Amino acid sequence: MGRVHNFSAGPAALPASVLAEVASELPDYRGCGMSVLEMSHRSGAYRAIFDETEACLRRLLGIPSSYRVLFLQGGATLGFASVPMNLMRTRRAGYIVSGHFARKAWREAARYGDAELLASSEGSGFDRIPDLSGIPARCAAGDLDYVHICQNNTIFGTMYRELPDTAGVPLAADVSSCFLSFPLDVERYGLLYAGAQKNAGPAGVTVLIVRDDLLGEGPALPCCPSYLDFRAQADAGSMLNTPNTFGIYLCGKVFSWIERTGGLPAMERRNRAKAELLYRALDDSPLFSGTAQRGSRSIANVCFRTPTPELDAAFIEGARARGIEGVAGHRLVGGMRASIYNAVEMESVEALVAYMRAFEAAHPAEAEAAADGRSS
Ligand SMILES: *Cc1c(COP(=O)(O)O)cnc(C)c1O
Repeated sequence: MGRVHNFSAGPAALPASVLAEVASELPDYRGCGMSVLEMSHRSGAYRAIFDETEACLRRLLGIPSSYRVLFLQGGATLGFASVPMNLMRTRRAGYIVSGHFARKAWREAARYGDAELLASSEGSGFDRIPDLSGIPARCAAGDLDYVHICQNNTIFGTMYRELPDTAGVPLAADVSSCFLSFPLDVERYGLLYAGAQKNAGPAGVTVLIVRDDLLGEGPALPCCPSYLDFRAQADAGSMLNTPNTFGIYLCGKVFSWIERTGGLPAMERRNRAKAELLYRALDDSPLFSGTAQRGSRSIANVCFRTPTPELDAAFIEGARARGIEGVAGHRLVGGMRASIYNAVEMESVEALVAYMRAFEAAHPAEAEAAADGRSS
């Protein structure tokens, strides 16, 4: 069987050329006589893999030398705890709640200090990025250790157009589902982190980039486990213990694929083209509608639905027969979601749009009823 059109939200599609390269190196990595899976993380061969992985990421994002790069485990979810443990020096931080993971981050931080809710779009079902106009004035009071955002809301398909103005308070961002989708200015952040399984590699690696001075002499909270002590991890080159050696190697392959295929500007162009095609199909459709407000639409996760859950289920079922996988919405919201990360080809988005058109044509009565409902 050939490869399917994989719209999974994560773990998600990886470039076919990366998988082929990894397969060819799997039993014997470049004449070492062993697999990367079998290699000591302290060996020279692995050291070279690790160093090039970090160097490539630094080139892609233009990471300044004043920032440390960590390759950790535990996903973004463990970051929800480790970020406050390391940075909540005065025990007060601001949280902007724009979706499920942003809310989880906020609730987790409340276990360690005063996690103040600065803005939320929960009232409108997280269909948009919250109104940020009050943020600069609140930040200017000067008593927040950092402001936390989730830059792309994977479940609701919304994304920040512009970062909030935090009046000099360090911005801490969960960028899991938009990491490496477009260039970003690292210096706008105090800290950013991403679970790799959306866009950067396999599950089991968390990339965390942090401004060195924010780490001080060590974590803010004495209860912080030594594994989560960012200062100690930075000093140990992410090897306080055995890192996810194979996962980091695979991330390195993805970074190098991004670099070879034009870097982050090229990723952004491709991702915007894919998103535009899909959103245009939704805006033109009599049957399907996008669920995110236009000004907040994500270029990584496109969420949509038909008028009924039954029709949604029929659409998802029919997709599978056409080799289109992973389009079911998150279980919290239902409907459909197409995640169109870097490794999802335009050809896959075209296949999805063609299927949407065919599905509309096969359900003319429902389409007409939906169009009537919208115009009345
Ligand atoms: C997937 C996701 C998470 C959860 O990631 P884990 O690696 O499973 O902990 C958190 N935040 C965002 C934005 C995500 O997309």
